[in-house]
Amino acid sequence: MGRERGNAKGKVLEDLIEKAGGCAVLDGGFATQLEKHGASINDPLWSALCLIKDPHLITRVHLEYLEAGADVLVTSSYQATIPGFLSRGLSTEEAESLLKTSVRIATEARDKFWASVKRKPAEHNYNRALVAASIGSYGAYLADGSEYSGNYGPTVTLEKLKDFHRRRLQVLVEARPDLLAFETIPNKLEAQACVELLDEENVEIPSWICFSSVDGENAPSGERFEDCLDIINKSSKVCAVGINCAPPHFVLSLIQRFKELTAMAIVVYPNSGETWDGIAKRWLPSKCFDDEKFELFATKWRDAGAKLIGGCCRTTPSTIRSISKILKERS
Ligand SMILES: [Zn+2]
Repeated sequence: MGRERGNAKGKVLEDLIEKAGGCAVLDGGFATQLEKHGASINDPLWSALCLIKDPHLITRVHLEYLEAGADVLVTSSYQATIPGFLSRGLSTEEAESLLKTSVRIATEARDKFWASVKRKPAEHNYNRALVAASIGSYGAYLADGSEYSGNYGPTVTLEKLKDFHRRRLQVLVEARPDLLAFETIPNKLEAQACVELLDEENVEIPSWICFSSVDGENAPSGERFEDCLDIINKSSKVCAVGINCAPPHFVLSLIQRFKELTAMAIVVYPNSGETWDGIAKRWLPSKCFDDEKFELFATKWRDAGAKLIGGCCRTTPSTIRSISKILKERS
């Protein structure tokens, strides 16, 4: 029950980071790529809708990211929730089965890709990728933009958040992913709910917890990362913390800050820098990073201490190829 880092539970991730030369590569935007292949995701269930309608497109996107050099695949379950599926007329059994499908599709894609490259180790520098089951925040389920405000209102308590996350977590754990990825957490209360739930459910699969940020300094709720990370640092179940779906120009200073606040591995996968207009439901270009800029900044993020680097919304396999190329050049 040790709380020391490097215990068996986090070993699978540590080993991958080492094999990747000190910094592993995550995949990139999922919905962006699905849309490119013709999936319609303008829906509260967002990319989770594809689990029902176009599972073969999910496989295709996973394979594209593996081919681009991703060492970790994040599953298509970000906005897949049991209440979300129920509201679309599915049964509980069907909803749970779709959650497991998201892990199965990613695992099968990983196995297929690895089988195709592992026989020729001299010809590539791919690693056998890990599959991280995506667990979106409560705000992602609400689909009202609250994952970027952190404002869940006075009726959302710690218990309510744990209840929201509990069954999905259990189902995803049963599907045996390599990792669990709590994503776009916007406030301290939800970080605490995740940490307590992992203990209560005695989850043995290592987790990371990522926050979004809209000001580059704090959690979206305005709460200090000091306070959020205090809670996570006490967990023996979490092996990495970081930032996802924040603009890339925030990332360097947030890594430096997180380095002072935690001994855990730091994971960053920013969006492209375009901003999401939650009311008009579209992306607005602003301080956008192109692939070249991602390549340049990925080395800065690694040198600042990030151990896992990838992309979130609006990044593509081409972004991940650039990141992978530059990070693996040295190793
Ligand atoms: Zn995102």
